[in-house]
Amino acid sequence: MLTQVAEGVLIHQSPLLQNNTVVVQGRAGVLLIDAGIQGSEMACLANDLRELGRPVVAGFSTHPDWDHVLWHAELGEAPRYGTARCAAIMRDLRSNAGWKARVAEMLPPEIADEVPLDLFGLITGLPAGTTRIPWDGPDVRIIEHPAHSPGHAALFVEESCVLAAGDMLSDVFVPMLDDFGGTNDPVEEYLVGLRLLESVADDVDVLVPGHGSAADGADRVRARIELDRAYVHALRDGRAPDDPRIGPSAKPGWEWVSDIHDGQAQSLARRRERDGTPG
Ligand SMILES: [Zn+2]
Repeated sequence: MLTQVAEGVLIHQSPLLQNNTVVVQGRAGVLLIDAGIQGSEMACLANDLRELGRPVVAGFSTHPDWDHVLWHAELGEAPRYGTARCAAIMRDLRSNAGWKARVAEMLPPEIADEVPLDLFGLITGLPAGTTRIPWDGPDVRIIEHPAHSPGHAALFVEESCVLAAGDMLSDVFVPMLDDFGGTNDPVEEYLVGLRLLESVADDVDVLVPGHGSAADGADRVRARIELDRAYVHALRDGRAPDDPRIGPSAKPGWEWVSDIHDGQAQSLARRRERDGTPG
């Protein structure tokens, strides 16, 4: 089911992980941001768009995580864009002979059979520094940042003031930092990402996170940014975060987000040991 969130912008939500697909109306058809995860729901979306007489003329994947790079044949053969890094990561992944099995292992078991992988990760990389989606529709600004995963980008639909935030600013997931195994600093990268989103916050009427509910108005958007930042600061400082998304106040069915937090706290502690930094 498509729900309008602003003039010319609709969303389609997938039940399991509350993945939001954002549909932006252009002149000849629509831009689809993060197409969805289960075959049946992407086919349903394709059908809804067909009934509206709006073909998909472009796609965009906000980042190279499995739940954001899927596609269904019925959505058609429009170019599916992503940042250059997102496309490169997907190309690398698909170049391994056993890539499908590796991806299948990441899928939640309850839907693993219903996630079509043939068109997984076929992303056309936009040259680094591209600031707008190349399409025949309203201006959509690309805000690339290093938080959560390399090659991540939020999209800001300027005319309708909608921010599609990718895996940031969710009311169900705490910030999920890039893994701590490399030489990069996932904490600082997350804070950089939040600052970049904050730079457009005053102009946002509707925020659509990659997962969870949309938020209306700059004040609510700022509140989500502050909540994410407070979480990242607590994680960085080794404190227990005071965060409604984890612990007893977590949404029913989302209690497992506390496990994500525990895992991140442990990874960060191991990283500190490895690097020999105190605290
Ligand atoms: Zn996601």
